[in-house]
Amino acid sequence: MSTSQTHVIVGASLAGAKAAETLRDEGFDGRIVLVGSETERPYERPPLSKDYLRGESGRDKVYVHPEDFYAERDIELRLGATAVSLDTGAREVELDDGTRLGYDRLLLTTGSEPRRLPIPGAELDGVLYLRSVDDSDALRARLDAGGSVVVVGAGWIGCEVAASARQRGLEVTVLDPLGVPLERVLGPELGSVYRDVHTDHGVRMLMDTGVEAFEGEGRVERVRTAGGDLLDCDFVVVGVGIAPRTGLAEEAGIAVRDGVVVDAHLRTDAEGVFAAGDVASAHHPFYGEAIRVEHWANALNQGPAAARNMLGQAAPYERLPYFFSDQYDVGMEYSGFARSWDRVVFRGDPASREFIAFWIADDRVVAGMNVNVWDVTDPIQSLIRARVPVDDRRLSDPDVPLEELVLADQLAG
Ligand SMILES: Cc1cc2nc3c(=O)[nH]c(=O)nc-3n(C[C@H](O)[C@H](O)[C@H](O)COP(=O)(O)OP(=O)(O)OC[C@H]3O[C@@H](n4cnc5c(N)ncnc54)[C@H](O)[C@@H]3O)c2cc1C
Repeated sequence: MSTSQTHVIVGASLAGAKAAETLRDEGFDGRIVLVGSETERPYERPPLSKDYLRGESGRDKVYVHPEDFYAERDIELRLGATAVSLDTGAREVELDDGTRLGYDRLLLTTGSEPRRLPIPGAELDGVLYLRSVDDSDALRARLDAGGSVVVVGAGWIGCEVAASARQRGLEVTVLDPLGVPLERVLGPELGSVYRDVHTDHGVRMLMDTGVEAFEGEGRVERVRTAGGDLLDCDFVVVGVGIAPRTGLAEEAGIAVRDGVVVDAHLRTDAEGVFAAGDVASAHHPFYGEAIRVEHWANALNQGPAAARNMLGQAAPYERLPYFFSDQYDVGMEYSGFARSWDRVVFRGDPASREFIAFWIADDRVVAGMNVNVWDVTDPIQSLIRARVPVDDRRLSDPDVPLEELVLADQLAG
C-alpha cells in the first residue's frame, strides 16, 4: 500500500478514532492525521450521563484508546485544533491555526451538538447542556452540591440525567411537551413504561408541558412553564435533541440533508471525502433510504467501515441501527428503525420491567427492544431482517424461542 498518501480524519471522536485504528489494522502505512477541537483524546460519551456523571467511574474509563496508542500506531493526533475550511478541489483542509493539510482521503466524523433553547433566560448561569466530558464534570459538580433540578426534555439524555440525579438524591422534575417520555422514538406504550419507572423513583414528570423562560438574578432560580407555572430549582439541564455538525461540509459544497449525505459506502458527493457517525446521513441498503443514527454503536462500527472504503475495499455499511440505555436498574437495548408502526406486541409483562417489545408494521417486526432481558439482540435482528409475517400469539409467547420463530415463519412463508 502506498506510503506517500495522507488520510485526514476531522473529528477526534469514537468514529474518528476507530477509523484511524482500522486504517492501520488494514495495512495503510501512509500518514494519518486525526484532528479534534476538544483537548481530550477520543472518548466515549455514554458514561457521561450514567456512571461517570454519578462519580462512580473516572476519566480513565471513558477513553477509546490508551494514551500511547496513537503515537505507537503513528497516528498524528492534533487536539485542540478545529478544521475551519475545506477545499475539495485542492484536497486541502485548513485548521484554525492556519495549518493546511493536504489529503488523499478525508473522513468527516464531526458528530453532533446539543440544540439550544432560544428562550428568555437561556444565558443564565446554571442552565446546563450535556455533550462533552467537561459538560459532565460541570453537571457532576452540581449534583454534588445537591438541591433540585429541572430537566427540560424527556429524551434519552434528559431521562438518563434525571435518573442519575435522582440516584444522587436530588429533587428532580422533568418537563416535556409530549405526553410521555421518549415518545418520539418509542411511542406511547413504551413511553408510559419509562414514565412509570421515573415516577416510581420519585421524579416529578410534568408531561404535555412546554417551557417558556428561565428566570433568576444572574443564575437560574426557576422555570416558567408554557402554562405559566413557576418551578423553583437550583439548576436546569436542557436535553432537547442534537443537530449534526455539518457546517464544514456545507461550506465546502458537499451535499447535506439532515446530515452529510453519503452512499452505502459512506462516500460523500466530493471525490475522496467520506463521513461516518452522528454526522452522516447514510443510504442504508436494508431500508432503501438514507438514515442518520445518533448512537454509540453506529459511531463504533461506521468509523471502521468508512476506513475500509477509504482504502478501496467496497464495504457497504449494512448494520441495523442499535442502541442502549440504562436508567436506575432498567437496562435496555433497541434494534431496528421504525418511523411508524401498527401495533406493539409484548413478550413478558411491561409492569415487571423484564420484557421484550416488538414494533409491528404490516405484520412484520420492524424494531425490537429488550428490557432487562439479555442476549437476544441477534434473534431480534434476524427477525427484523427476515421481514416475515409474524403471529402475535407466538411472538408474545416466551416459550417459543425467537430463533425458532424466525425459521418457522420463514418456512411458512
Ligand atoms: C451524555 C451522552 C450519553 C449518551 N449515551 C448513549 C447511550 O447510552 N447509548 C447510545 O447508543 N448512544 C449514546 N450517546 C450517543 C453517542 O455517544 C454518540 O452517538 C457518539 O458519541 C457519536 O460519535 P461520533 O464519533 O459520531 O461524534 P461525536 O461523539 O459527536 O464527536 C465529534 C467530535 O468531533 C469534533 N469536531 C467537530 N467539528 C470539528 C472540526 N471542524 N474540527 C475538529 N474537530 C471537530 C467535536 O469536538 C467532537 O469531539 C450518548 C451521547 C451523550 C452526549
